[in-house]
Amino acid sequence: MAKKVFVFDIDETLLSSRPNIDKILNKVSKTPSSYDPYGGYFGTCYSINKQKMKSIMESIIAEGHAIAFVTAGNIEKYEIRSFVEKEYGIDLGDSFLYFNDQLDKTPALKEIQRHYKCKPQDLIFTDNAEYHLHPARKEGFTTIYADNNFFDKTDGANYTKELESQLRSSLDISLVESEYEVIDKDEWVDLGDSKSSFIFFEKSKERQKESPLDSEWALV
Ligand SMILES: [Mg+2]
Repeated sequence: MAKKVFVFDIDETLLSSRPNIDKILNKVSKTPSSYDPYGGYFGTCYSINKQKMKSIMESIIAEGHAIAFVTAGNIEKYEIRSFVEKEYGIDLGDSFLYFNDQLDKTPALKEIQRHYKCKPQDLIFTDNAEYHLHPARKEGFTTIYADNNFFDKTDGANYTKELESQLRSSLDISLVESEYEVIDKDEWVDLGDSKSSFIFFEKSKERQKESPLDSEWALV
């Protein structure tokens, strides 16, 4: 089962076909894409933060997480599959979850959570619109704001760092789990900072011999 589910918005998060793109987006990296899901209808389609997103998508898959998409637009599932294949060199297959025409994205996010049976905080939803993020956050989902909009001075640097941090924290957990026996994963204590949490582990029998303490806290 997937450990985390990374859900992406499409327009102005992964790609943009806006004719006046420089007025819509900030100086985030934009590369003319080799595949346009809109078929050239709006002009050139740009891949946003292509190299970073390629590497993030590769890591998501390599670490056994799931990818899903929820868009308010009308791009079809086979079109985003082609975009991901041509732009990132990744074939998602046909089993990934995909929802288009979602003006209210929360019902689709809940359906994705039900499908993967994950905790709400393990569903990580990235979107460039606070309009969509706010209700998702209220449901307990982890939200990442894609800072690509023209009014953001950060030029798309924050959300890629946050995505990388989400990937690092799950990697850290699996490293810790390989050394310790987890006695109760529900012992997670939320410190109000999504980048760090404490988890309670019982030492494995092997490690108990090495030290008199029978349990310890690990920062992940
Ligand atoms: Mg968008």
